Amino acid sequence: MTQQTGDCNRINIAIDGPAGAGKSTVARLVAGQLGYIYIDTGAMYRAVTLSAQRLAIAADQEEALTLLLEKLDIALIRGAEGQSVLVNSEDVTTDIRSLEVTREVSYYAASPSVRQVLAGLQREMAARKGVVMDGRDIGTHVLPDAEVKVFLTASAKERAQRRFKELDHADISLEELEAEIAKRDSLDAKREIAPLIQADDAYVLDSSGMTIDEVVDDIIRICRTKLAEAK
Ligand code: C5P
Repeated sequence: MTQQTGDCNRINIAIDGPAGAGKSTVARLVAGQLGYIYIDTGAMYRAVTLSAQRLAIAADQEEALTLLLEKLDIALIRGAEGQSVLVNSEDVTTDIRSLEVTREVSYYAASPSVRQVLAGLQREMAARKGVVMDGRDIGTHVLPDAEVKVFLTASAKERAQRRFKELDHADISLEELEAEIAKRDSLDAKREIAPLIQADDAYVLDSSGMTIDEVVDDIIRICRTKLAEAK
C-alpha cells in the first residue's frame, strides 16, 4: 500500500484502555460523528487467534504463526449491524467473540510476529488520517503521533457488569467474567512488547458512572479543539 500525505483537516484518534471500558462503542460513535473510519484493532487480534486455534497452532509457536500471518487477509468492513470482520473473505464477526477466543487472545497478542504484522497493517490503515482506532497500544506504539489520545477506563466491577449484560449469561457468571477480565488486563499490561499502558500525553477518562453519550461528547470536544488548532 502506498503511503499518502494526510489531509490537514483530519486527525487520528487513539482510544486505548482495559477490557470492557466501552472503547469500541465509544470509538464507533466518535467516528460516526466526525465522518471518520473506525478501526477495532482487538478484532484483528481476535481474528488471528481464531485462525490459529482452528489450525491448532499454539500462541508460542512463532514460526507457525509467522507462516499463518502470511496467508491471512484480514478485512474490517462496514456491515449492516456495525463492523464485520472478514478473514480470507469468510465472515468471522461472531466467531471471534466466542469465549474460547476471548480466553486465549492475550496469549496470541503477546507474540512478536503477530504484533509486528498487525501494527504494520494498522499504521497503513491510518496513513491517510481520519481514523478512530481503539486498542491497547495505539497511542503508545501504533500511532504515537495521533493528534488525540484517550485512555478510557472504568472500575473493574463496572466493566464486568457491562460485558455481562452484552453476553449470553448461560456460559459464564458475573464473578467468572470479572476474574477473566482481570486476568486479561494483567496479561495485556505485563507483556513485553507494546503492553497496555497509558500514554504520557493521553487524556484519561474514567467512564464509571458516565453515560455513553457523556463520554462521546467529552471526546468530541477534545477532537474539535485539536481540529481547530490544526487549521
Ligand atoms: O479489544 P478487545 O477486548 O476485543 O481485544 C482483545 C485482545 O486483543 C486484548 O485483550 C489484547 O490481548 C489484544 N489487543 C492487543 N492490542 C490491541 C488490541 C487488542 O494486544 N491494540
